[in-house]
This record gives sequence, structure tokens and C-alpha cells, in this order.
Amino acid sequence: MRCEVCGRETPKLIRAEIEGAELMVCNECAKLGKVLRTHEKAPNAVYMPRKETAPLIEPFELIDDFGTEIKKARERLGLTREQLAKKIFEKESVLQRIEANELEPSDELVLKLEKALNIRLRV
Ligand SMILES: [Zn+2]
Repeated sequence: MRCEVCGRETPKLIRAEIEGAELMVCNECAKLGKVLRTHEKAPNAVYMPRKETAPLIEPFELIDDFGTEIKKARERLGLTREQLAKKIFEKESVLQRIEANELEPSDELVLKLEKALNIRLRV
């Protein structure tokens, strides 16, 4: 995060009114003006249930044999489970359970798998 007055990188921005303008500034620059009420809590935590912070996709149903589809597509691309796991930043053990139809991938993971493997896992 950068201070809007001096441009310095700062871990915490303070909302302050400086010469009539409302700016997000660093600690030092905040002293130049009037500090406005800061929002200590992240807006997401206050206003939005956790689910809505997930990627903006419609709710969907997974196909029944998603695990098989993933495994087939992965093997078709000549990827090992480890390689695919790395590609989508997921644990190999998770992928293994998904391929065994033991674990349903999260919405986000479904999208990543669809993209990485060029398949469709939604009904
Ligand atoms: Zn500053």
C-alpha cells in the first residue's frame, strides 16, 4: 500500500483530511491533516458472508464422475498427478482424493481444473 501524499510504501494507511481532500496516507503524512475515522475491520468480514467472496460464479452441480473425468483428462495431457497439482497450486493428496471421487473440489478448484484440463465438470 502506498501513501497518497508522499508515495511511500506503508503497511497501514490512515484516512485523513489534508487541505480539504480525503486521502489514504501514511502515519507521517496523517500528522499534516485531520485523521478521519479508520475502518479497522476488513469490509469483507463485516458486510459479506464468506461464500460471496469466492469467485463470482453461479452455483452449480458437479457431474457425478468428476474424479474419473479429471483423471482421464490429466492422463490424456500426459500429466502426472504431481504435475497437475503444481499447475493448479493444489496439494497432490487433495487431487488424489478428488480423482477417487472421495472429495468434491471447491468452486474455485473446479474452475482451475476445467481451465487446466480443458474439460467441463459442471452439470
Ligand atoms: Zn506519506
